[in-house]
Parts: sequence; C-alpha cells; structure tokens
Amino acid sequence: MTAYVFITGGVVSSLGKGITSACLGAILEARGLRISMIKLDPYINVDPGTMSPFQHGEVFVTHDGTETDLDLGHYERFVRTAKGGRHSNFTTGRIYETVIRKERRGGYLGATVQVIPHITDEIKRCVEMGAGDADICLVEIGGTVGDIESLPFLEAIRQMGIELGHDRVVYVHLTLVPYISTAKEIKTKPTQHSVKELRSIGIQPDILVCRSEQPLPMEQRKKIALFTNVQQKAVISAYDADDLYKIPGMMHEQGLDEIVARQLGLDLQAADLSEWEAIVEAKQNPTSEVDIAMVGKYMELKDSYMSLVEALQHGGIHTRTRVNIHFIESQSIERNGTECLSGMDGIVVPGGFGDRGIEGKIETVRFARENGVPYLGICLGMQLAVIEAARNLAGLTGAMSTEFRRDTPHPVVALITEWQTGTGKVEQRDEGSHLGGTMRLGAQSVSLAKGSLAASTYGATTIEERHRHRYEVNNNYRAQLEKAGLRFSGTSVDDLVEMVEIPGHPWFLASQFHPEFTSNPRDGHPLFNGFITAARHHHKGVLPKVREA
Ligand code: GLN
Repeated sequence: MTAYVFITGGVVSSLGKGITSACLGAILEARGLRISMIKLDPYINVDPGTMSPFQHGEVFVTHDGTETDLDLGHYERFVRTAKGGRHSNFTTGRIYETVIRKERRGGYLGATVQVIPHITDEIKRCVEMGAGDADICLVEIGGTVGDIESLPFLEAIRQMGIELGHDRVVYVHLTLVPYISTAKEIKTKPTQHSVKELRSIGIQPDILVCRSEQPLPMEQRKKIALFTNVQQKAVISAYDADDLYKIPGMMHEQGLDEIVARQLGLDLQAADLSEWEAIVEAKQNPTSEVDIAMVGKYMELKDSYMSLVEALQHGGIHTRTRVNIHFIESQSIERNGTECLSGMDGIVVPGGFGDRGIEGKIETVRFARENGVPYLGICLGMQLAVIEAARNLAGLTGAMSTEFRRDTPHPVVALITEWQTGTGKVEQRDEGSHLGGTMRLGAQSVSLAKGSLAASTYGATTIEERHRHRYEVNNNYRAQLEKAGLRFSGTSVDDLVEMVEIPGHPWFLASQFHPEFTSNPRDGHPLFNGFITAARHHHKGVLPKVREA
C-alpha cells in the first residue's frame, strides 16, 4: 500500500520546494524504496505547455510526451524510480476540466457540483492514480500556503490524512527563516505564521524544512518546534548549499528519511548515498575546465534552460571538468558580432520558439563551424545548423525555416504538411505561436548511421530521445545539403531528420530531440559527455582548427 508525503510551502515562493521534494525522494530511494512523485499546480492553465518560459521557466517533457512543470525534471534527475508522465502533474485547470466534462456528460446525476467534495474528490483520484504502485508517493503542492488557488489542493490532502491515517501520510512544510542583518537576528516568526495558516485549514505539519542562509542554531530549532507543535528533531535546517548535490547528504545527516520512515512504520536498510557523494567529490576535483557559450533568447531567466544547464553540468561530472556556462543573448550577437564567442571551448544553441535573435544564432553556428569550435545544437539549434549550412555551404541564399519566414525561397525547415505538398505553400497555420497543431512530443526511437559521430558518441545505432517541436528538416533538400557537406546521421522511423553533423569538423553535432530531458547526474548522458570531452580537447588546443570559409 502506498504511503504519501505531502510537501507544502510557506512564507515565500522560490524556496526550492521542487529540489527539496526531489532530494527527499532521493534519500528515501537510497533506503531501498520505490518512489513516485507528483506535482500539483494551482494555476488555471490546463498544462504548462503554453506558458511563457519568461514566467514559468522550462517546460519539461516526460517520456510519454506530457508537457509538465520543470520540477518534474528535478524529480527525474534525483529519483531513478520516479518516472514522470501524464499522471505526474495536475493543474487546477486540468482538474476542473475533468470535472466539468463529467458534469456535462451527466456524470453527477443532477447533483450540485462543488469544490468540496467534487473538485477535492477529483484531486484525490488524480493523486492516487499518479502514485501508481510505489512504496511512497511524494506530492508537491505548488504555490504557498495562503494562496486562494491552492486551497482545494490543501483541502484534498487534509482529507487524505484523515482517510488514510497518520501512519500512511506525512506532511512536510517548507518555510523561510530569514536573517535580518541590521538586527543581527534570525527570525522564526514567518515560519510560525505559515504553520498557523496551515493549521487553520486543518493540517498539522509533521516535519518542517527551514530554508536559511546558514545552518539553523539549536536555539531557533527549539523555538520553532515549540511554537509550531512539531518535534524538535523534525525541524530540519536546509541551509544554502554551494552544490545542489550536497542536499541529499545534508538532509540525511539530519535524519529526514528516518523521521519519515518511523512515522510510516517502515524498517528500512541503511541509506546508500555513495553515488551522491561520488558526484560531489567529482565536482570538487575537476581535472580541467571549459568555457561554454549558450546562445539563446531567454538568457535573463536561466530557469528556461534548466534541464540543459543541468545536463551540461552532468557532462562535467562524468568527465571531471568544471563547466563554466556563459549565457549570451543572441540579439547581442546581431548587434556586436561574434567577438564574444572567441575563447569559448564549446558553443550550444538550445531549443526555442519565435524569431527574435534568429540571425544571431545562425551567425553563432557559422562561427562554430568555421572556427572548429565544438558545437551542440538542440532542436531549434539543429534547425539553424541546417539553415546555416544551406546558406553558406550549399549556396541557398535566403534559406530559412517557414516558422520565421513564410515566403523564404528555400524552406529547408518547414512543417511536414508544407514540404510534403512540394509547393512550399502554407496550407493551414496558426500564426506566430506554437499553440495547437501537431507538436511532436515525447520519446521516439532514432536510428544513427554507422560510422557517424552521433553513433560513436552514443555507442549505439538505435537510441530513444524526447521531442518537443513542430517543424522538420525538409527532406526535399537533403541530397543537396549532404553534397554540400552536412551529414544527416540520425533519422526517425518515418525518415525525419533527427541528427546532423559536419564531417571534418572536430565536433559538430546537433539533434532535433532534447537529450537534456534524459540526462541525470548519476548516469550522465553520452551526448553531453561527448560534447564536454570535445570542449576539453579544444581548451587544450588538441583539436585541429579547421577553417572552411
Ligand atoms: N521552433 C522549433 C519547432 O517548433 C523548435 C522547437 C524547439 O526548439 N523546441 O520546430
């Protein structure tokens, strides 16, 4: 029978509730449990697929092609048994949508449909569905206690506590314990208030995880325990860590997993955190370092590229390399040229939508290709590599994706419906956005050409990777582009381009899929290991610089 750990947040947002939940999952998994993880999001959007990365950070894509909250990325990176999917992320919008559909079908037999019990019942049904057959299901509730939107979720988890009993439900509350420098004092009042708020809706937390800059002194832990009716040992100090991967160890040291296990009456094997310790050790003792330029559009909000940044770091962990990522706004390259890229050991153009900064990214690809700098293109970064090669290697002036220029003379990247008609004409399209339509989503199998850089990097000729895009390389141009020097080294089962490379270049590899979604710190990922290794060689000047211009 699955037990539940509910994680709520208080005081302020952005305390790292997702990471905390993921780390708790990691230490419980390290004690031999099977974990599932769910995120409940109070906003009204049915899923985060249409939300701006500016506001909401990255959209994480699961194996089954669900567009989810970025916290699901943390879960998959920290917990091996937690495989996210369509039953792992529920928003208010999705809950209401289901209830309203059922009401329209007459499913409530004339009853007045209300938040309690109909919405809360649906929330509970979703949580039980998402829990699967795990030993423990961790459920993170988005937002902070006191938000109007999160009330139905909190009410639903309160009910579960009563229905399942105290030995099957644990409530964890994450709060902030600020240090006021002018008074030189640590303040516990916001935590007290936050717990009071939680108790007023009927939830007494069992564990408090207190975020603070410095480790929380015993005196404050005592005080918090007293005022919140929580056992003193269950007041955990989650102080700022210089390395994300130290957090599982930090939490285990304070007995967080044991407190959960005791309450649930579980007698567990000792925690094996050796893999996490190895990661911390590898990060602390790099044998080299590399400077990687990431040229994109949302550079002021690093959360938009969360998984990619993480995956590059995983490449660093597995090659013992310190990876310094330099975020560069592609529009600044349009204004000031590629000067800022010289000195970089590797260049990444990540996925993206919309045409802002496109020419700057194409110039970036050109710089990497002409100067023999290791290049990793992801999704849009691959499409732009094809466009760059079309323009500058195949002489197809004005080559472009129809996403950005509908009347391009050479639609080397276009919607399948556009290039399959052979006319290059757009038949039907919703303007300017990636809403609706046929987004290719989720894991699909990719064949890699024998003898290619792609195949040697993966050490395999069949792989599976996740997708999130609508536009495809136009197969009508493949022969011409291949002749000009581009190799299509990865293809899908329906013969769509999945990977491109440039033979003769030290390391130039781009994918239509998103490898960052399947990378995790413990296992790493071949593509990122390969890229960082190439960047290391470049750093040492081992690779020949080819100039093809
Ligand atoms: N905008 C491109 C497409 O829709 C690329 C998407 C992406 O990079 N994720 O095909």
